[in-house]
Amino acid sequence: MSAITLTGVDLRYPDGTAGLSGIDLDVRDGEFVALVGPSGSGKTTLLRTVAGFLAPTVGLVRLGDEVVADGTRAVPPDKRGLGMVFQQHAIWPHRSVGRNVAYPLEVAKVPRARRAERVADVLDLVGLPGLAKRDPATLSGGQRQRVALARALVAQPRALLLDEALSALDEPLRDRLRLELRTLTRAQNLTVVHVTHDRAEALALADRVVVLDGGRIQQVGTPEELVQRPRSAFVAKFLSDANLLPGTVSDHGFSSADGGVHVGRDRLADMSSGTGILAVLPSDIEVTSTDSAGTTQGIVMSSLFGREASDVVVSCRGAEFRCAVRGTRPVVGDRVRLTIRRALFYPAPTKADVPAPSAAALAGSRR
Ligand code: ADP
Ligand code: MG
Repeated sequence: MSAITLTGVDLRYPDGTAGLSGIDLDVRDGEFVALVGPSGSGKTTLLRTVAGFLAPTVGLVRLGDEVVADGTRAVPPDKRGLGMVFQQHAIWPHRSVGRNVAYPLEVAKVPRARRAERVADVLDLVGLPGLAKRDPATLSGGQRQRVALARALVAQPRALLLDEALSALDEPLRDRLRLELRTLTRAQNLTVVHVTHDRAEALALADRVVVLDGGRIQQVGTPEELVQRPRSAFVAKFLSDANLLPGTVSDHGFSSADGGVHVGRDRLADMSSGTGILAVLPSDIEVTSTDSAGTTQGIVMSSLFGREASDVVVSCRGAEFRCAVRGTRPVVGDRVRLTIRRALFYPAPTKADVPAPSAAALAGSRR
């Protein structure tokens, strides 16, 4: 049984903006799913639709086997049994840490003694043992975010929804909280939907990652699948900084639209041909000095140090290539040779591939 299911969900805002289109998504019980995408891609809209702050225009939202929204009626957020944490921790300054955390239990009329016990347990769980009496004003940003997490978990929610919950924290702390969040949710077998604009965070944490763009799901898969087999040039670029080149694949291989770049057929990861976009991952380009008999020559435009590989941009035959260089870091101005070891080709969609307009879009155009 899936913990969260969205089926054919479209969401149109009152001003006509299409927030979500044709969303089909299954989040399994105990699964950690990350929603990632550029700003405005619909991540918050999707999360708020699951939470119940927004209702789909058409389509179904299920929690377990309960339909909580069906396009005509929607169960209100406080009746969905979900825990939520947002970027700005909404901690009440006039309540102690313990009373902040206890709030959902007060609403549920849990007896006082049982409340105190549960609050102490959940504060332990988030790494704030014994802090129930503290004034939230005396806490650091990271501790306040832990309080928000404790409050989201205290009533044993069916699922945990996080919207950029770690994004406001500074780097070393964010890293640690990421790790703790993953350990904690795994130990509790929690179902989690974690929204982030940070692709590294999404790939690092999630069992499966959902890539959104323009209110549509572009791809769902494990981090390995998304990085190794991106289904579109967009996903390759967004997750892995792929270099994109328009052009044509024939029997001889790929030729860029301006004729400057050629890639042999044997380097292409699949057999599709025609006109479209070539995507080359930075790690699939070899950068060598021009001493060795050079073919494709380029000039290093920038060279940034990286722990595993340097991030090097090479201008070559009218295009710029971002390359991940292991070993000696080239210097700006160096003349280098580029070898494309492997590339993905995405034929331009034909008319038959373009999705039919959704029911909501059609309803909207009649207005
Ligand atoms: P993200 O969280 O991925 O940055 P959002 O879900 O907030 O994106 O927004 C998705 C789209 O919906 C954007 O085009 C945004 O401008 C639009 N949008 C968000 N909230 C509203 C609203 N209340 N009214 C109209 N449009 C909105
Ligand atoms: Mg958002």
